[in-house]
Amino acid sequence: MAIRNNRLTADEYKEQFSDIRPPFETNDAALVEANRCLYCYDAPCTKSCPTGIDVPKFIKQITTENLRGAAYTILVSNIMGGGCAKVCPVEKLCEGACVYNLMEEEAIPIARLQRFATERAIQEQWPLFTRKPSTGKKVAIIGAGPSGLSCAHALSREGVDVTIYEKESKGGGLMTYGIAAYKVTPQFCQEEVDYITSIGGIDIVYNQELGKNISLEILQNSYDAVYLAFGVGLARQLGIPGEQLHGVVDAISFIYDIRTKGYPAIPVGDQVAVIGMGMTAIDAATQAKRLGAKEVTLVYRRTQQEMPCTEAELNIAKLDGCKIVWLAAPKEITGEDGKATQLVCNVVKLDAAGIPVATGEIITFAVDMVIKAAGQMPFEELVSGNQLDNNKGRVIIDGHSTTSIKGVFAGGDCVNGGKEVVDAVQAGKDSAKAILQYLF
Ligand code: SF4
Repeated sequence: MAIRNNRLTADEYKEQFSDIRPPFETNDAALVEANRCLYCYDAPCTKSCPTGIDVPKFIKQITTENLRGAAYTILVSNIMGGGCAKVCPVEKLCEGACVYNLMEEEAIPIARLQRFATERAIQEQWPLFTRKPSTGKKVAIIGAGPSGLSCAHALSREGVDVTIYEKESKGGGLMTYGIAAYKVTPQFCQEEVDYITSIGGIDIVYNQELGKNISLEILQNSYDAVYLAFGVGLARQLGIPGEQLHGVVDAISFIYDIRTKGYPAIPVGDQVAVIGMGMTAIDAATQAKRLGAKEVTLVYRRTQQEMPCTEAELNIAKLDGCKIVWLAAPKEITGEDGKATQLVCNVVKLDAAGIPVATGEIITFAVDMVIKAAGQMPFEELVSGNQLDNNKGRVIIDGHSTTSIKGVFAGGDCVNGGKEVVDAVQAGKDSAKAILQYLF
């Protein structure tokens, strides 16, 4: 057993990481699906979209081959509608709500149709939005992720000049750095950021981190308002012996490295255990397998009923050949010569309150790599250090995205602790509305 990189040929890497939800091959294929839509009154698909995209309207526009109109309908509600079409858990959102499910027929493939409409808009940089003349008002945004970009676009449309401070060297946040490469490519993420900023009035300053290169106080003095959209990022530790052993990594860093260093550079083990069952755990497990790991086992301390990932995500892992072990809680990682060799778990059962309780039985897995995907923690030090009211590091806001500091607003993952990209986009829209009310 060994951890090593460069396991596959260039062609194999390409195949393993190709688009998992490929676009329609022909326009006709898209039209056939679009024409199945029943244009429901009170469309449940729209109601279940956190950004409220008018789904029947954009599908109708596709059927009349009004692709620009369809792209506008999507993007006016969700400026990252292109990326969301690739990464949204649509089975529990729009497609899950489609009335065809009630008739036990295939739901309308809303995400693929959304992709069909938005991809060309982004690739060809269609100028669907215009910016009002500058009002002279200036807003600083921390973080060029979905929430920050969505807020920036909404503000810029109203003539506000926006500067986004981004700690990484690229924009897109979670979309660029935290999602499996077979769902969305870094190149698409870049094109989407370029599309959003092409409206003008949005300046992104890269490699600038709040608390390191810039301070909230300086931003407050230099801008009319500040929007905090720095997300979450710190991997939660398991708090068990052996976490320091060689071969134990966290899923956030693992996925970040895949996104930034290229597939051949990423070391992966022969026998990998992934702890957790959220979307990040699935993304880590499937990518470890696709990088050439011989055996990947997902270990979760509850049952399938409680898993945070969707059924569709679980199926991706199963199709990739990952094993799933339910009701196993990590107890210890043991090793030899400083390297992880075994993951020891308590076999558990759920009590009446759904809390895992050890049964006394032990299960062990031979490993050379353990990937921890036990969730992310807010930037508590940063939040507390800036005197922001918070709940264990999550910024507290009122109903209008306002923090405890006048003129400072917040939204997205740094407030909610980590939800979907689409939720962050909506938070950015809500916050832009609140900021506009504050400014004018
Ligand atoms: Fe069309 Fe399904 Fe939405 Fe009805 S629920 S409008 S059929 S996509």
